[in-house]
Order: sequence, then C-alpha cells, then structure tokens
Amino acid sequence: MDMLRSSEMPKHVVILGAGFGGLYAARALRRAQARVTVVDRRNHHLFQPLLYQVATAAVGPSEIAAPIRSILRRQANATVVLSEARSIAPNRKVVILSHGEMRYDFLIVATGATHSYFGHDEWARYAPALKTIEDALEIRRRVLFAYEAAEVESDPQRRRDWLTFAVVGAGPTGVELAGALAEISRHTLAHDFRRIDPKQARIILVEGLPRVLPPYAPILSEKAQRQMASLGVEVRTNAHVTHIDEHGVSLGNERIPARTVLWCAGVAASPLAKSLNVPLDRAGRVLVRPDLTLPGHDDVFVVGDLAAVEKNGKLVPGVAPAAVQEGLHAARNIVRALRGEPYEPFRYIDKGSLATIGRSRAVAEIRGLKLSGFVAWISWLTIHVFFLIGFRNRFIVIINWAYSYLTFRRGARLITGPLPPHQLTSLSPNTHVPLDERTPFGPFGHQAMTAPEKLESPTQEPEKLEAFVCPV
Ligand SMILES: Cc1cc2nc3c(=O)[nH]c(=O)nc-3n(C[C@H](O)[C@H](O)[C@H](O)COP(=O)(O)OP(=O)(O)OC[C@H]3O[C@@H](n4cnc5c(N)ncnc54)[C@H](O)[C@@H]3O)c2cc1C
Repeated sequence: MDMLRSSEMPKHVVILGAGFGGLYAARALRRAQARVTVVDRRNHHLFQPLLYQVATAAVGPSEIAAPIRSILRRQANATVVLSEARSIAPNRKVVILSHGEMRYDFLIVATGATHSYFGHDEWARYAPALKTIEDALEIRRRVLFAYEAAEVESDPQRRRDWLTFAVVGAGPTGVELAGALAEISRHTLAHDFRRIDPKQARIILVEGLPRVLPPYAPILSEKAQRQMASLGVEVRTNAHVTHIDEHGVSLGNERIPARTVLWCAGVAASPLAKSLNVPLDRAGRVLVRPDLTLPGHDDVFVVGDLAAVEKNGKLVPGVAPAAVQEGLHAARNIVRALRGEPYEPFRYIDKGSLATIGRSRAVAEIRGLKLSGFVAWISWLTIHVFFLIGFRNRFIVIINWAYSYLTFRRGARLITGPLPPHQLTSLSPNTHVPLDERTPFGPFGHQAMTAPEKLESPTQEPEKLEAFVCPV
C-alpha cells in the first residue's frame, strides 16, 4: 500500500538557485506532474545585466529585482524556500540546506558563479566586484563619496587621487561601468560641485589582454575602444594588475594612484559544485554530459554559469540567454523522464552579444551582423527592457532611462550606509572647511558644500584653498 502511494506521489523536483537558469526551469515545469521546490538564499531574482545601472545611480535596486515568491505566485505546483544550499549528496538524493536536508527525485543546480580575484582575495576589500545588489550599492556609495571627498580635500594630489577611478577588466561589465563613470563625471555631476570640477575625473580601464571586449570580433573591440575614448575613458590594454590597496593599483612597476578601484575581471563557479565530487573545469564549473546531467547521476542537472557546456569544441558562454536555454532544456528533459521518454541533448542557440558603453554608444554582434553606435544602443535598450521580469520594473526602468537620456541626470544618487572606513581615515585631518561654516553634522554639513570658489581643475594650486583650511 505504501509502495503504491509513493509511486503515485508526484515526483519532487528541487531547483537550487532562482537566477536565469533556475527560474526559467521552474516556470517551464508549471504543467508538469511534479512538485517543484525553488531554493534560493535571496528572496529575489536579480537581473544582473542591469546591476551596473544601480552601481552608477541610474536606477534603484528594486527596479532590477523581483521577489521570487511573487514571480511564482500563480504556479500552483511551485514552492519557494529561502535557504542556502550548503552541499549536495547525490548518492542519497539529498541537498543539505542551511535549515536541514531536503530529498529530491530530480535536482537542477543553478547557483551560478561568483567573482574571483585570481588568488588575491585581499584585494576584494579595496576593489569591490559587481554581482549582488549589495555590491552595486557599495560601488555606488564609493563612487559618489569619492566626489564628496575630493570636494573637501585641500591637497591637490590627494584630490586627484579621489577623482581617479580605475576599473579592472574590460569585458562587457567593465566597459559598461567605465562608460557610465565617464558620463557621471562629464554630465551628471558636472555642475553640482563648487570647488572641484567633476569633468576632470580620470576613468582608467585596465585590461590584461590586448583588446577590450575580448570575446567580441576585433572590429567591435576597436569601435568600443574609440567610443570609450570619445567619452574620455583611458584604456590600458596588455596591463596586468599586480597589487591593489586603498591608494591605488599597481601594474608591475607602474603605480596608478586611485581611491576608487572596481573589479570586473574574474569569475569562479559557485562553491557548491565542489560538493558534487565530479570533475570540474579550471573555473570550478561542472563538466556536464550533453543532456546537462551530472556524470553518473541521471537525476541531477547542472545549468547556467555553473555548468561547463561544450558546443563545437568551445564553451557555451556564461551569459543570461545560455542560462535560460539550459534551464528550459533541463526542465523539458525532466518532463520527458516523467513520461518515460529518453533525454535529449542540449543545443545552444547563440543569439548574439551586446555591450553598451554609454548614451547612444554600444556594440552588438547579432547572428553575424556587427553593429555599433546608436543602432546597437537601441537594440541593447530594447532587449534589456524586454527581458526584465515584471511589468512595473519595465515601466519604471523605461521612465528612468528616458529621464537620464533627456536630462543627463541620474535619479538614484544616494550615498547609503556607513562610509568605508579606509576612506574616512584617509581624509585630510585639516579638512579645509572653515570652522564657522561647519554644521553640527561635521565637515559634510551642507554649509561646507557652499564654498564660493569652484576650482577650474583639480590641478589648481592650493592658494585658493588656503581660505578653506581650518587654522588649527
Ligand atoms: C554585473 C553583471 C553583468 C552581466 N551582464 C550580462 C549581460 O549584459 N548579458 C548577459 O547575457 N549576461 C550578463 N551577465 C551574466 C548573466 O547574468 C549570467 O550569465 C546569468 O545570471 C547566469 O544565470 P544562472 O542562473 O546560472 O546564475 P545567477 O543568475 O547568478 O543565479 C544564481 C542564483 O543562485 C542563488 N544561489 C547561489 N548560491 C546559492 C546557494 N548556495 N544556495 C541557494 N541559492 C544560491 C543566487 O542567489 C542566485 O539567485 C552579467 C553578469 C553580471 C554579474
């Protein structure tokens, strides 16, 4: 009787991670005769391709994220569990979560990737990477704070250091961030300060390989580099970072003093892969079989950034469309198995690549067609809005983009949370705000910001500044 009941029970499909791979898999199982449990350590699905827009104050965090529970609210066979997956025991068909064990009949592992500092985790403190909403807010805080610190800094060299932004890694994220930082300095903040000229900020993009956007066709890399130069971004290719600290970046013997360093260089697979005890590639991704299952375990699928999937001898790239296609494919194979049919191999359809560089500037490679400039930018805009989850988010993002496009302004310029300690301690002790201009809130009170003279450039000599140095 018990055996009969258990064979009649709907199979339990557990999905770890509600990013692109996991969420699309869950939705593809909505009509399956199965119970679906989606486990994520965050309560929201995040549209990572627009994270840099949060980091550069163009949109707020809630516009690019949506609660997983809300996305799946109409899917009766789906349950959402907020928990962290600690490890997987495929031999026992169990996942070990932060709050206990969960059994599965089928498992889809879609926990994605994280950033890698190539063995220099100590750099993370000085050069935040961009992967989560918290990362984006931290970057936004550092970038906006750098201008505030420069405004109240009396020493010309230190002021220059605050106004130097180094972005390490010229893949799509590095290019997008550097382009947005240049726009912030040249347009958004151009008239907001009294003592510094934000337009004098240096944005330096550092890349270890010979060209920016290495996965793109060389002609598009060239075009992207030209578009970046027109925005004022200094591109340094063939440049290997050897050291990062709170005062800047070293490229071998060369030192770039920069108070804001952002890391867009390395990716490493989710550490959960190690618990599977199967062969991994150098980035820690799981070497899956052609049907996306784990070697030796037909009931475990690995999809998205965590999976090393080959197509014609090349790895399928770690991009959102690949994760979506793999998530959908794993779900379809599970439906086939429920019907007693064999699995089918996965076939990746490359829909192209797009990277935006700034207002009206982008490059795109779509089905062999190479686009750049305004046309590529419009394609980028349309595709990103189309794939954002939720009508409200699409609507608000379009409004925000239209506002930024027409006014050059960015609506989310908030400095939130405590100021980074290493930045605070390094502010000049003689912070140049006359005592009588200080407010009870300390040197950052609004009075201090209304100093009468605006410097033409950060190289201007300190005479003019003397008036602001507090005579201790
Ligand atoms: C800044 C940035 C910009 C990008 N820009 C683009 C772009 O323009 N175009 C493009 O195509 N791709 C872009 N990508 C890549 C794209 O976002 C990824 O390829 C895609 O998100 C991979 O999907 P995934 O489902 O494998 O993983 P993710 O989307 O990363 O989802 C993983 C999920 O698993 C959860 N998770 C992780 N570990 C655990 C755990 N132990 N327990 C429980 N839950 C866990 C996470 O919270 C997350 O929700 C970008 C990525 C970044 C970081």
